[in-house]
Amino acid sequence: MTTIYSIEDEESLISLLEYNITSAGYKFDHSVNGYDGMIELQKVKPDLIILDWMLPDISGIEVCKFIRSNKDLQKTPVIILTAKGEEDDLVSGFGSGADDYMVKPFSPKELIARIQALLRRNSEASSTSRLTYSNIVMDTDMHRVYCCDKETKLGPREYRILEFLMQNPGRVYTRQQILDAVWGTNVYITDRTIDVHIRRLRKALSVTEECKVIRTIRSSGYSLDSQS
Ligand code: CA
Repeated sequence: MTTIYSIEDEESLISLLEYNITSAGYKFDHSVNGYDGMIELQKVKPDLIILDWMLPDISGIEVCKFIRSNKDLQKTPVIILTAKGEEDDLVSGFGSGADDYMVKPFSPKELIARIQALLRRNSEASSTSRLTYSNIVMDTDMHRVYCCDKETKLGPREYRILEFLMQNPGRVYTRQQILDAVWGTNVYITDRTIDVHIRRLRKALSVTEECKVIRTIRSSGYSLDSQS
């Protein structure tokens, strides 16, 4: 379940947040000061953080800097809540890595809309672990390759070659460049070995005509080309 975590010391505001956030279908959790918040955030690993600017112990800026430097939290969207008159400090708020802010008192409806927008943006950003070319989709998180929506099994070398080519479709790579990218430098592999793996890769991709995209460039090397 999507969890929204708030660090906020004002009790009436906590109740307001809890009511509106749970009504919108999210799980709500909170801390009432910055230090507890930083400890809890690491356990809860929420999907979004609503951070009060003026906390009783440390400032929201410090908490925000902590969030951005923590490997588990650094990509979590942060909305800063600030009181009227503190807006000038917001420049430093964005400098410390906040994604959005709202000035109190705010409309709960507007807050929910901002939460939804940030969550959407974040899920789109995390799906960039996909490479696509022609009818080939490569999911680099799951290490899966699909040709026209059908999964194709590739060996590890073939997978790496395809990933490398898909990062720059159309560009021609020499066998040496492919070798360096896939096997690493200081490895003795002949051109012939690369050709063997390319052949296997082509075979795996030949399930449909549209996926036959590896072009041989005479005396140069290979490239991805859907016109081939
Ligand atoms: Ca406060």
